[in-house]
This record gives sequence, structure tokens and C-alpha cells, in this order.
Amino acid sequence: MTHLETSLRELRTDHLDIWYMHARDNAAAIPDELVAAWENAKKQGKIRAIGISTHNPNAIVDRVLETGKFEALLSTYNFTVGTNSDAAFKRLSDAGVGLVAMKVMAPARPGGASNAQQMKNTGGPLAALKWAIKNPLFATTIPSMVDMEMLDENFRAMSEPYAAQDAKILAVLNEQVRPLYCRMCYQCSGQCPKGVPVPDAIRYLSYADFYGQFALGREHFMALPQEVRDVRCGDCSSCAVRCPNGVHVAERLIRAQELCA
Ligand code: SF4
Ligand code: SF4
Repeated sequence: MTHLETSLRELRTDHLDIWYMHARDNAAAIPDELVAAWENAKKQGKIRAIGISTHNPNAIVDRVLETGKFEALLSTYNFTVGTNSDAAFKRLSDAGVGLVAMKVMAPARPGGASNAQQMKNTGGPLAALKWAIKNPLFATTIPSMVDMEMLDENFRAMSEPYAAQDAKILAVLNEQVRPLYCRMCYQCSGQCPKGVPVPDAIRYLSYADFYGQFALGREHFMALPQEVRDVRCGDCSSCAVRCPNGVHVAERLIRAQELCA
């Protein structure tokens, strides 16, 4: 509730349309007290809708539906994750939860990656946004934009159909980023014997490398427990984590630790 009051003050408003609590990636991150806070805020007229955001919809769908309180869910959804969570999205949508897609550009939009301009020139951002919005279960997306060119591109995505050429562009892009970009499938959770939360740590690096948000990535990284921040993947002779999606886990984590720790 303190966070909410801060947001209202800083936004100079008396209510929020949707109050999302972010990065709720497992059921334990949605305790009853938190749900009560959402409800209180709504009763007090400080929010209009109860929202939650997640990188792992499969892990929280049961809890979200069990509470019956959520009206909006903001989730990672892009061409690299494919259909991994489609069943969860369908259940949520059927229950009346409005779906909003985030990270829709995956690594397709310029913003820090060394090959960002090359990706842009291939039409990757346009194709990526078209891919996301062709799913009728999603009400809208937050594609991010920092200039008028991106705004124009977003309008194009809304007015042009997803075509065979877009699928080809994304297939190529998907292979290019395979070793670098975590699909957030969470299959490697708990595999690191030193306790590194691999999907989260690689995601923080993605903020820097793909979304142009180094400060945000570092802020998240620095919020990890000290013992996790102190781990150096370069000290392992081989990495115990296996990624079925082809992410070069140890290399990404070494970079994350070099950049953020
Ligand atoms: S590193 Fe690989 S296994 Fe782990 S969450 Fe990312 S895509 Fe999934
Ligand atoms: S290299 Fe692999 S096993 Fe070693 S600390 Fe890093 S993630 Fe864990």
C-alpha cells in the first residue's frame, strides 16, 4: 500500500486504472495478504482493476484463477516463447482475465544489442509485433517505443497482416538469438548447485542487452541475495545447467556478472 501511495503521488493522480504487481513468477509470490491489499485499494477507489504481471504464466495460472480476484494479467509473450503458455492464456481469458503482452519485441527492437541495427533493418521489430497481436486472446501489448519511427512501426503492425515473409524473418531472428535470449520457460530453475536463479539473472541481462535498460537490469541484479551476487560462473569448470532452448547459460551469466555485480 505504501508503494501504491508513492505511485499515486508521483503520477499526480488519485487512482490507477490497473495496479499491477510485477514479476509474480510463482504461486508463493501471491500470498493472501497481497490479494487483500489489492482488494482494499479497489474498495478505497485507488485502483480500478486488479492486475498482476509475470514471466511464468504457467506457474501462477492456478493461483490466479483460485483467487478469482484478478482482472488483468501482463505476461511475457513473444515469438521466441511460441506456444509454451497458450493453454494458460486460454484458461485465463475464459475466466475473464484481460491479457496484456509484454516483451513482445523479444530481442527484435533496437535498444542495446550490438547487432540491434542489423535486426531492425531486417524488419524484425515489425514482424515481432505483428506476431504478438495476431493472438486474439491478448487485448493489447506494451511494445515500448522511444521515438516517432517506432510509433510509426507500431501503427504499421496494427494495420498490416502477419504474412509469410514475417514468419521467415522471425525464424531467422530466432536462430540468431538462440544462444543469447532466454525464452523464460523456467525448465532450468533450481539446476544451479550454487543457487543462481538462472532465468531471472539472464533476464536481467536482457534488459541491458536487448531493451536498452541497463540501469533496470542492474537494479534487479543488485536486489539478488549477496551470496548469489558473489557467485562467479567463470569459477565452474563446467556448467550444471542445461538449456533445452540452446541458451549458452554460463556465457550469459558471466556477462551478467561482469556487467552488473
Ligand atoms: S535459460 Fe533456457 S531453460 Fe532456462 S529459462 Fe531460459 S530458455 Fe528456459
Ligand atoms: S556456471 Fe552454471 S553451475 Fe556454475 S554457478 Fe554458473 S549457472 Fe551455476
